Amino acid sequence: MSEIEVPESHPRYQSLLTRHRIEDGVKKGITSTQGLIAQGRGEAFDYLLGERTIPSADRAERVAAAHLLLAEQPVLSVNGNVAALVPEELVELAEVTDADLEVNLFNRTEERIHAIVDHLHEHGASEVKGTAADERIPGLDHERAKVDSDGIYAADVVLVPLEDGDRAEALAAMGKTELVIDLNPLSRSQQASTVPIIDNAIRAIPAITTHARVLQRASSTLEEMRTIIDEFDREAILADAERVIRNGSD
Ligand code: ATP
Repeated sequence: MSEIEVPESHPRYQSLLTRHRIEDGVKKGITSTQGLIAQGRGEAFDYLLGERTIPSADRAERVAAAHLLLAEQPVLSVNGNVAALVPEELVELAEVTDADLEVNLFNRTEERIHAIVDHLHEHGASEVKGTAADERIPGLDHERAKVDSDGIYAADVVLVPLEDGDRAEALAAMGKTELVIDLNPLSRSQQASTVPIIDNAIRAIPAITTHARVLQRASSTLEEMRTIIDEFDREAILADAERVIRNGSD
């Protein structure tokens, strides 16, 4: 038995664990009730993808790792869902890629920002941005536009798990390289992404970390990582996920 009263061999283990963590996130004031709806939508897409990382998503995760390693100022955006699902894994990815963590909420309240910052500290984070909120993303209404001037605002590469479509589009309009984790290949966020990662954040975050470690261990040169990025075809990745969802198989 683990965190939940279900053995890991249970066929729905991952899905039940995910629900448990989100529910727990709501109880702790980390995840919003809107986050529960997003979770439900995500589950439906994950089910259709076979609740696994499809090969094209794995390719996108490797490209995302290369982007984070080559970035001047990478930032991992953290919302209430991923904070509840993969806090330790986010801290680990930030360490491996030398990225900043920034709490960035759709339904922003100071209480929830602080609850998530504390939660990340409890899971090993040293510094967490998102409380300064001293800059605005152009083109968005006041609350949703708030970011840190030395965080997302200044970043060249931003990893955004489960971003809302408006903000994903506004970040893209700022010229940022956006690595978007979202199980729906048709979402506006994925349509605005530089690298669409169509996978569950619970699998995608650790997978990007593993790829980053492998790229580092193989002492991949900057040139090699640039080639990985240049050869990436985002349209093919979006089309592949949609095909798997529609056909129910690879
Ligand atoms: P759009 O981007 O089209 O504006 P939206 O902002 O209305 O969409 P939401 O209802 O906020 O979308 O849903 C959030 C998105 O996050 C959904 O597309 C859902 O599939 C996705 N999602 C939910 N949970 C996860 C998860 N654990 N991992 C990856 N994606 C997820």
